[in-house]
Amino acid sequence: MKRFLAAMVLLLGITGCTAQPEGYTADFFAMDTFMSVTAYGADEQASEEIAVQCERRVNELEPALSRTREDSDIYRLNHADGAVCTVSADTYAAIEAAVQYAELTGGAFDPSLAPLTDLWGINTDDAHVPRQAEIDQVLTRVGYQNIQLLGDNQVRLLGGAQLDLGGIGKGFATDAVAALLDGSAGVLARLGGNIGAYGENPGRESGGWVIGIADPDDNADFLATVEVRGLSVVTSGDYERYFEQDGRRYHHIFDPATGYPADSGLRSVTVIDQSSTRADALTTALFVMGLDEGMAFCEENAIAAVFITADKQVYTTPQVENVCSFAFLGEEKGYAYAQ
Ligand code: ADP
Ligand code: MG
Repeated sequence: MKRFLAAMVLLLGITGCTAQPEGYTADFFAMDTFMSVTAYGADEQASEEIAVQCERRVNELEPALSRTREDSDIYRLNHADGAVCTVSADTYAAIEAAVQYAELTGGAFDPSLAPLTDLWGINTDDAHVPRQAEIDQVLTRVGYQNIQLLGDNQVRLLGGAQLDLGGIGKGFATDAVAALLDGSAGVLARLGGNIGAYGENPGRESGGWVIGIADPDDNADFLATVEVRGLSVVTSGDYERYFEQDGRRYHHIFDPATGYPADSGLRSVTVIDQSSTRADALTTALFVMGLDEGMAFCEENAIAAVFITADKQVYTTPQVENVCSFAFLGEEKGYAYAQ
């Protein structure tokens, strides 16, 4: 809820005081998170049509990406015991993208770790630290190499692997929203931590959209902003979903190498990219890699990313200044911009 309020505050901040065409905001809950799409079309009716169309597309994608709904393709695939399954074109495209980013990140992003998230009970009332033997056992089933894409929307999972597209789903949905737009309307889509800012923002002279990067300790407030156009801004952080046991915090981004929540010294990673799917996969992967490896990866692959570390440093990759304008706001909160 807090994150949702933060989104609203920022929206008001951007649009509150200037005369501008009527926008329309569709607020809804999907993929286990609050979402909103604000559209500025030619007139109020056009704005509403665009926003509602975007909402409809996200709702349509939800069953294509969900693994918990028993009527979903992923659920069926996860329970097929290694048999070939035919899935929808959307599901196939999402799995294909997920495998591509697993390969690119050397498995730091791994969409086959559903047995691991299930074991930890993340997002359930039964979240707990499993025994090491249990972790070792489920890790034998994790590995994106076990996902076979056979063409014609056919997929097979080997070796007991099960898919969890939670690390990429909202990015995939954001790109699906972007694909509906022709650039004539200004649209700000907030799908949880995934933001897409498309067309022109009528509330700013520059036409750009200012997106806040949350303070990990108070995600109603920001440590930095980026001004973007036609891009997606995605953040993954240890404060999004977690549970506490024996005074320790266990969050929802797992290191597939250890089977534990990634303990990389980072609080959050933000990626700014044309593809929200790529940004979503990469924020998760970079969080796992940690600062040094993550920075090197971003330089090699020309990725624009912002890292916030547990020791209160904010780092940006060289590509950031090429794609957006970045403002650091964290000084009062004891953060330093380490450039
Ligand atoms: P959020 O869902 O808060 O936007 P992320 O995009 O970082 O955050 O996705 C985290 C989700 O991705 C987890 O809840 C889990 O379902 C899945 N996940 C966790 N660790 C990994 C990983 N290393 N690779 C791929 N998916 C992951
Ligand atoms: Mg992600």
